[in-house]
Amino acid sequence: MKEHGRIYLDHNATTPPLPEVTTAVARAMTESWGNPSTLYASGRQAREVLNVARTKVAALIGAADPSELTFTSGGTEGDNLALAGACQALANRGDHVITSITEHKAVLETCAALEGRGFRVTYLPVDGTGRVHPDAVRRAIRPGTILVSLMLANNEVGTINPVVEISGVCRDAGVLFHTDAVQGVGKIPVDVGTLGADLLTLSAHKFGGPRGAGALWSRSGTRILPVLRGGAQEHGLRPGTENVPAIHGFGAAAELAGRTLAERTQRLRLLRDLLWERIRREIPQAHVHGDLVNGLPNVLNVSFPAWDAEEMVLALDREGIEAGTGSACSTGKTEPSHVLLAMGVPPDEAAGAIRFSLGRGNTNEDIDTVVNVLARLCGCS
Ligand code: PLP
Repeated sequence: MKEHGRIYLDHNATTPPLPEVTTAVARAMTESWGNPSTLYASGRQAREVLNVARTKVAALIGAADPSELTFTSGGTEGDNLALAGACQALANRGDHVITSITEHKAVLETCAALEGRGFRVTYLPVDGTGRVHPDAVRRAIRPGTILVSLMLANNEVGTINPVVEISGVCRDAGVLFHTDAVQGVGKIPVDVGTLGADLLTLSAHKFGGPRGAGALWSRSGTRILPVLRGGAQEHGLRPGTENVPAIHGFGAAAELAGRTLAERTQRLRLLRDLLWERIRREIPQAHVHGDLVNGLPNVLNVSFPAWDAEEMVLALDREGIEAGTGSACSTGKTEPSHVLLAMGVPPDEAAGAIRFSLGRGNTNEDIDTVVNVLARLCGCS
């Protein structure tokens, strides 16, 4: 899609808001400004907006009961609430948490904070495609394990974990299972009944919704305590006056995402495969990372040898193309991605990896333009 006359290929970072979402947010800003916790008409009206959005988000993830959803400020807060909230609630049963080394920082840094509070964390390795094996989870569970947190789909390479099998392992062992589904929801079918998780994080801005709105789904009966203090909103789990306009937009995005999912998934997969076919043909020294068959349909992570990822992103930017690096960038030096290193990618190759993540509106013409530019930058045209 030409966003502001440019080709936008970083939909895993964020997505342009859908026009229906922008309209919904603006409408709620002007019409539903009441405080949803109040008893009078404007408050009741705002509360009704929350109820409708909750029902729409619940439908997107197949949640039987909308009250299982707690609105948050996004995926980061949802992950913090899931991990810290569950550990706090279950501290009398044990102190051991299992996660993987390729999780998003929202999980990894929460785990580090939990370690600082005396919890012990096992960081599971991944295979060459970035996948955690259910057997590794089974072997890591021990007396005192209270929580397993493993992402549904990886943000950098798009690899999808075998979450159904992993949730089975956790259920058999009586251990709570959380999945960070921020990159999965809205891109692939996500049904909480099928996945079998107890806690699931999602975020609106990854599928056409506004930034700053997300949710934590928790299966009825799951023990979890609030992380923030100060009010009874969101069943007491997330105090603070709700961001009604953003949540209204979240509901609109969820409804549209559900309706268009099958068509978008198929179209993006074809487009992503075309992008890789063309890159492979034009730039034979390029390497792909992840799993194109069983990964997210919209993600292509590629290393261009002799290029540093940050330099490549800036060179593409000068050509009107926006793509991401999975890597942390500080003071102009790109750190190789922790995900690629965990997958066994050599550091110099990892340092040259670019993440293309496609979305609504990207076209075959965009692919032609991008591949021509890449081939020129790599000296292959
Ligand atoms: N988890 C994953 C896998 C993500 O990719 C992201 C965002 O990139 C987050 C969590 C954080 O979500 P948010 O930006 O809504 O805080």
